[in-house]
Amino acid sequence: SSPVSPVSPSSNEELFDRARALMPGGVNSPVRAFGSVGGTPKFMVSAKGPYITDSEGREYVDLVCSWGPALVGHSHPDVLAAVHAAVDNGLSFGASTPAEAELAQLVMDRVPGVKRLRMVSTGTEATMTAIRLARGYTGRNLVIKFAGCYHGHLDGLLASAGSGLATLALPGSAGVTEATAAETLVLPYNDVDAVEKAFAEHGANIAAVITEAAPANMGVVTPEPGFNAALSRITAENGALLILDEVLTGFRTGPAGYWGLTGAKEGWTPDLFTFGKVIGGGMPVAALGGRADVMDYLAPLGPVYQAGTLSGNPIAMAAGVATLKAATAEVYATVDARSAELSAAVSAALTDAGVDHSIQRAGNLFSVAFGTSDTGVHNYEQAQAQESFRYKPFFHSMLESGVYLPPSVFEAWFLSGAHDDAAMERIYAALPAAAKAAADA
Ligand code: PMP
Repeated sequence: SSPVSPVSPSSNEELFDRARALMPGGVNSPVRAFGSVGGTPKFMVSAKGPYITDSEGREYVDLVCSWGPALVGHSHPDVLAAVHAAVDNGLSFGASTPAEAELAQLVMDRVPGVKRLRMVSTGTEATMTAIRLARGYTGRNLVIKFAGCYHGHLDGLLASAGSGLATLALPGSAGVTEATAAETLVLPYNDVDAVEKAFAEHGANIAAVITEAAPANMGVVTPEPGFNAALSRITAENGALLILDEVLTGFRTGPAGYWGLTGAKEGWTPDLFTFGKVIGGGMPVAALGGRADVMDYLAPLGPVYQAGTLSGNPIAMAAGVATLKAATAEVYATVDARSAELSAAVSAALTDAGVDHSIQRAGNLFSVAFGTSDTGVHNYEQAQAQESFRYKPFFHSMLESGVYLPPSVFEAWFLSGAHDDAAMERIYAALPAAAKAAADA
């Protein structure tokens, strides 16, 4: 197990009490507060491979993986070595560095539709910039998003946004002006007819359609075969851009993300991609990229402004480069196999305990939706209608047994290339009691 540096105060309870007095809800990102599952959040102090250790020295098998970035496992030796080496050269220069192009090249080698890339620090910045760029490029105002898709906390995309808003049952966010909200058309996911209709009515004023490459913020939802391809066709026919948000799926569902499993085979490419999470391997890195003529609309070449003091930070670039290099075919094969095994084991345990459910899957991402076996979950309405109350006792039983699941039913379960047999056995051993707890809810 990992070495734990002593912290004071040291219990999760005391740490949460202190944090609540200092920060809204005691957290710097809402879902961390355990709002929908209740109880005291665990304060983490170290992580290695598939394990994460809290302030009390308890070790858990980690199925959050920092919400995606830890694809190659926590504290991967190559990634830590690259970061240590970069740190020794200084933390930030506010000038161009060689590593930026190195990371951009690795992205383009994997995703050939990316002809230019701009690094930013968070997924929110990536999607925010992509939207601004689409508006600047097309000279149009409206943006289509899908209910249940989360693209970060930019004003215009917080309506029916999944993620923490789904967890907290919020329809949108206070503080977003009506004028901003009116420029986003929210449509039901997986509904091509609704998209055709919106374009028939507003086509001349639609700048972009933004969609998660595969939704994973209302739980996981599989895009119907041909759905993303239809979005690509409809946007092209109407002079609008398709923004494929791969912040979560990018470099995780495969070397070329979810696009690699779909568009690469079906022959469509979005105009813009957004990336985050794995691209920085746990450091604050995100990016947008795509068509050269569109990307070159960004300053300094074009009229759409975007900038960042810490963009392309050398430590963050080093972590990203090392992570993508460590994300070998073997890592993807492991994550794919572990995902298939684990989802089957979860399903079997729930079935044994008599808990109605469906396994929601998109590539190697999956989540469990309770009470949905009759239809499965294809959109946000169905995701919200599930028996989400069964997740709370399930989650806490797993936590008791040393397995750290996402503290919300509306999130995907994340695996890594470091989840070995020993880690998986610990999860499997925990499942029957958790399934029983879900059944008794
Ligand atoms: N897009 C998607 C699909 C995401 O899952 C997320 C974060 N979970 C974001 C955008 C926003 O990224 P960040 O939290 O880095 O702002």
